[in-house]
Amino acid sequence: MKTKNTKAFGTDSATAPLKEMTIQRREVTPTDVEIEILYCGVCHSDLHTARNDWGGTVYPVVPGHEIVGRITKVGDKVTKLKVGDIGAVGCLVDSCGHCESCEHDLEQFCLNGYTGTYGSPDKHLGGYTHGGYSERIIVDERFVLKVPSNLDLAAVAPLLCAGITTWSPLRHWNVTKGSKVAVVGLGGLGHMAIKLANGLGAEVTLFSRTPNKKEDAIKLGASHVVISTDEEQMKSVKGKFDLIIDTVPYVHDVNPYVATLNYSGTLVLVGYLGDLDPMLNTVPMIMGRKSVAGSVIGGIAETQELLDFCGKHNIVSDIEIINMQDINTAYERMLKSDVKYRFVIDMASLKN
Ligand code: NAP
Ligand code: ZN
Repeated sequence: MKTKNTKAFGTDSATAPLKEMTIQRREVTPTDVEIEILYCGVCHSDLHTARNDWGGTVYPVVPGHEIVGRITKVGDKVTKLKVGDIGAVGCLVDSCGHCESCEHDLEQFCLNGYTGTYGSPDKHLGGYTHGGYSERIIVDERFVLKVPSNLDLAAVAPLLCAGITTWSPLRHWNVTKGSKVAVVGLGGLGHMAIKLANGLGAEVTLFSRTPNKKEDAIKLGASHVVISTDEEQMKSVKGKFDLIIDTVPYVHDVNPYVATLNYSGTLVLVGYLGDLDPMLNTVPMIMGRKSVAGSVIGGIAETQELLDFCGKHNIVSDIEIINMQDINTAYERMLKSDVKYRFVIDMASLKN
C-alpha cells in the first residue's frame, strides 16, 4: 500500500522525552477521509501511555486522541464529509462493526477489540496506529465526527476524550435536572464533568485536594466544593450523591467517597486503572444498594450527541494552547495539576 511521510511527535521509550519523528500514513481508501490536524488535546492517558504506566506500550508511540482538523481528501464512497469540512476524531478509529456492542453503537466495548487512535494494531499498514500529535491522519468516515460551527475549534478538541468520557456516565446513569452529581478531581476530565453535569441541570459538587481551585469550580458550574482531605467537610456530604464521577489518575481510597453516595447511588471510576488500595468495603454498598462501576470513553453516536449538545449549550473546554515542541514541559505541568484545564497543541507549530 502507498504511504505518505508524515511529521509527528512521539517517543521511542518510557524514559525518553517526546521528539519529532516521521511516521507513515496510508493513502485514503474508498471509505476514508484525510484530515489535516489543526488542534490536538493533551490527555493524561497520553502521558500514561508514553511513560508505560499501564504496561504494554509499543514504541515508538505517537499519542493524541483529541483531534480537530480540516478534511483535505475523501475516498470515492465517502458520503458524510467533503473536502474543506471540519472533522473530529477521538479515541477510536475502527471496530468490527458487527458484534453485539457495535450493533448497539457501543464501539468502545467492541467484542472483537476496537482500534484505538494510537497504540492499536494497524489493520491497514501493519505495526501500530499513531495518534494526533502529527500533521495528518487518515480515518474511516464512520469514526469522524461533525463539529458544530459555533464552537471554537481548539477548545472543542478536548470534548473528543475528556468530554465523552464524562458525558457517557452522565447519560448512562440518567443524570437530569435536580440530580446530585459529584466529581472527584478538577483536571481535564473533571472540569468537563462539571460543565456537562451542570448543562444537564444537575446540582454539582467538586471533591478536590486543592483548596485554591474552589473559585474556578464555582465558575465552571459547581455549586459546592468539598476538600477531600478535610474529614469534617467529607462528613457534611454523607449520603448525598446520586452519581460520583471519579477522575483521579492514581491509586486512592474510594471508601470515603462511597460514604457520600445516597442509597442506590453509583460511583463511577474513569481515571485509575488497577487494584484499589485500600480495598473496597462492601458493607456500605450492601446496606445502601450502592454501586462502584467503571466506564471507558463512549461510542461514536454518543460522541456526536455530546458535540451537538455542546453546540446547543455553547460548552467547550477551558484550554491553554501550546506549541508541539512544549509537550514535555506540558506533561510535567500536568503531573503537578498545573493546567487550567486542558493543554491543546496548535498543530501549525509542527510545521516550524
Ligand atoms: P488531569 O488533567 O491530570 O486531572 C486529574 C486530576 O485528579 C487532577 O487535576 C487532581 O485534581 C486529581 N489528582 C491528581 N493526582 C491525584 C492523586 N494522586 N490523588 C488524588 N487526586 C489526584 O487528568 P485527566 O486528563 O483528567 O485524566 C484523568 C484520568 O482519567 C487519567 O488517569 C486518564 O488516563 C484517565 N482517562 C480515562 C478515560 C476513560 O475512558 N476511562 C478517558 C480519558 C482519560 P485536584 O487537584 O482537584 O484534586
Ligand atoms: Zn484521553
